[in-house]
Amino acid sequence: MKIGFIGAGKMAQALARGLINSGRITADNIIASSPKRDEVFLDQCKALGLNTTHDNAEVVQKSDVVFLAVKPVHVSKVASEIAPALSKEHLVVSIALGITIRNIESLLPTKSRVVRVMPNTPSVVRAGASAFAMGSACRDGDAETVEKLLSTVGFAVEVPEIHIDPVTGLSGSGPSYMFAVIEGLADGGVKVGLPRDLALKLAAYTLLGAAKMVLETGIHPAQLKDDVQSPAGSSVYGMHKLESGGLKGVLMDAVEAATNRSRATG
Ligand code: NAD
Repeated sequence: MKIGFIGAGKMAQALARGLINSGRITADNIIASSPKRDEVFLDQCKALGLNTTHDNAEVVQKSDVVFLAVKPVHVSKVASEIAPALSKEHLVVSIALGITIRNIESLLPTKSRVVRVMPNTPSVVRAGASAFAMGSACRDGDAETVEKLLSTVGFAVEVPEIHIDPVTGLSGSGPSYMFAVIEGLADGGVKVGLPRDLALKLAAYTLLGAAKMVLETGIHPAQLKDDVQSPAGSSVYGMHKLESGGLKGVLMDAVEAATNRSRATG
């Protein structure tokens, strides 16, 4: 299978790296494009061994699966550029925030096979979480193809398109929330006397470990939380502070606000 990326930035490179590292696709079967003004992105892609071009239509001609990995504002221009080169044999996978399947389909030839994905940045370290929705002209097997490609950089799941904005509010935007949590925990560690680098590592490993426990044990997080809180112990004192600050309510507000923002973008 030949893979093309229109847009050669952070997400395209993360996905390309995942595909190569998984052994599923070799670098010489991947091509990426970017305008001349953004040569630096293509230099980074060349360093990964990818083919590169300034010509978006060439990406389509040389690919079976074409990722639209440009910023949302560039999608309509790119779609009109590639439309003449597209056939029903191409699968078009958009990762652009807020741009609906119907919107993309309307810019491409009729019956174009379009998939909309919401990935997230931990894809860079192959710990991403992506959800994808299938367009009206997709065929049997397309969802499996997309799931296989995305799972090279983490967890991937098919959802109805109506869930893509909530996914954006949760896992698409979530890494930034969690970076702030790590920073806050580390600041707390520094305040009580830990060296900064140690505090940061402990905070990051704590999040990683808690996430792995939820995923690998299948135990509800409330139960896991109860399990570490002994009567009058330090954890329940810390938890009382978090709940006094409305931690869970604030997280819920954050997901809702980001979801609404994503809906407004579309
Ligand atoms: P980026 O700025 O790193 O990369 C964008 C790329 O598009 C660059 O290589 C740029 O040169 C290229 N480009 C611009 N105009 C172009 C054109 N006319 N033709 C071809 N290429 C063009 O952006 P990114 O962070 O990789 O984001 C790409 C998409 O992924 C966006 O739509 C974004 O909404 C989505 N996304 C990003 C994240 C994230 O956390 N970074 C998460 C989910 C979804």
